[in-house]
Amino acid sequence: MAAKEHFDYLVIGAGSGGIASAKRAAQVHGKKVAVVERGALGGTCVNVGCVPKKVMFNAAHIMECLHDAPLYQYSGAEDVKLDWGKLKTARDNYVVRLNGIYGRGLDGADITTLTGLASFGDDGEVMVGGEAYTADHVLVAVGGVPSLPLELEGGEHTITSDGFFELEAMPESCLVVGAGYIAVEMAGILNALGCDTTLAVRGDKALRAFDELLSTTLDAEMKRAGMKIATGTTLAKVELVDGKKVVTTTDGATLGPFDEVLMAVGRKPLVEPLKLENAGVDLNDEGYVAVDEYQRTTSEHNVYALGDVCGAIELTPMAIAAGRRLSDRLFGGPECANAKADYEGVPTVVFSHPTIGTIGLTEAEALEKYGEANVKVWTSTFVNLWYGPMPIDPSDKPKTAMKLVTAGANELVVGLHVIGLGADEMLQGFGVAMKMGATKADFDSCIALHPTAAEEFVTLAPWGQGAGDKMGDRSAAPTPVLH
Ligand SMILES: Cc1cc2nc3c(=O)[nH]c(=O)nc-3n(C[C@H](O)[C@H](O)[C@H](O)COP(=O)(O)OP(=O)(O)OC[C@H]3O[C@@H](n4cnc5c(N)ncnc54)[C@H](O)[C@@H]3O)c2cc1C
Repeated sequence: MAAKEHFDYLVIGAGSGGIASAKRAAQVHGKKVAVVERGALGGTCVNVGCVPKKVMFNAAHIMECLHDAPLYQYSGAEDVKLDWGKLKTARDNYVVRLNGIYGRGLDGADITTLTGLASFGDDGEVMVGGEAYTADHVLVAVGGVPSLPLELEGGEHTITSDGFFELEAMPESCLVVGAGYIAVEMAGILNALGCDTTLAVRGDKALRAFDELLSTTLDAEMKRAGMKIATGTTLAKVELVDGKKVVTTTDGATLGPFDEVLMAVGRKPLVEPLKLENAGVDLNDEGYVAVDEYQRTTSEHNVYALGDVCGAIELTPMAIAAGRRLSDRLFGGPECANAKADYEGVPTVVFSHPTIGTIGLTEAEALEKYGEANVKVWTSTFVNLWYGPMPIDPSDKPKTAMKLVTAGANELVVGLHVIGLGADEMLQGFGVAMKMGATKADFDSCIALHPTAAEEFVTLAPWGQGAGDKMGDRSAAPTPVLH
């Protein structure tokens, strides 16, 4: 079929990675670019991910403050109620506003927006709405969708994170199934807002891939906040009984009834409609698009892929960075010939209750990589000053926990982990420091911000006595160079 139009760059998917890459190519490198989108602009993050999730997290945080208010000697906070329906409307309006901003951003960059479901035609051209389009370079940035276990009987009675954002009223009771970050975030939001919440995990706790200090502290803090955690639980069946959902587990136990069962058991790449075989794009063993470090697929047709569809680090800023670097490499001339995103040392925040921040290696990973003799670990568990004046027993107050993991003689910081109030806003600067190769001595040389929780990271005991410490003499420290 003759192509309707030819572009320098054709991007499939107007989500985090696709939009970032398209705008970089058009605005910075002056290329003729088109973006294909089958749904709302902005992708998962804007429509059913980071943005609406953070709004709900904020609502839950306000509720937690209201809960703490009497302990700060406020009266009347008990009577404050959330109107979930009105908040949903406000949140949806905000998302629609963001969709508009993205649309105007694409128009302003002279990017052609093609609406429809894209697939590859027989000759590798991109088909949208019955028309063929060609391009020098094609990017697949189609993201993913929530997955449901196929063997789950009655799966139609459950919702996923997408369904969570459609709820018009708060469920009075909810079973959240899953042990990853989306599961603990959704469960934490519901629990804080007053929903009778149970988290079902297959193992003994959630976030088992995270540093042990984080997963153990989160488990304790979620229980302290009143959440029920059903461990060793795998769902076999969900039944509708009198309008409520009753769950049977694989070992025959019954859970519920619940108003909602929210499955947060993983996501899958949205590859089926693309007909990737027509472009010679292979998937890896896990079903994600296989790419190399330069986001190149196996196709011979200059097809690239990035973001959630590749399954490497499924976070918005990772997709954005990969998208921009790809455009730099493709269109930025010789000096950008090796441009690529750095997938190492990516800071990650979990908007659980309390929040988690983590960068680099867990203690277990560091021991595996560097060996016991070369790894040192600093930890601290304490009560945030926020809870200080509350007239409750200190042992009942929520805990903040931190860990620094260092490797080698100069105590290079290779892992940084924190859980507690404000952990989410604590992490970014430490991420920069670790990218620059900060050591424990560098951390100790930075004067603390007091009184904050973050200060604990630069005062971890023993302070100022590490192997790389020079007793305050920074003369050997690298001198910043101004260009
Ligand atoms: C509940 C939830 C919370 C999250 N919270 C966070 C967070 O706090 N922080 C964070 O960094 N990340 C978070 N994420 C992850 C983040 O949303 C994703 O990593 C990010 O959106 C991935 O970007 P992407 O460009 O790969 O894909 P997406 O943003 O998913 O965009 C893909 C786009 O492609 C479109 N598309 C798909 N197939 C086609 C086709 N064939 N033709 C045309 N268009 C197509 C889709 O409609 C979509 O708009 C969250 C995700 C979820 C689900």
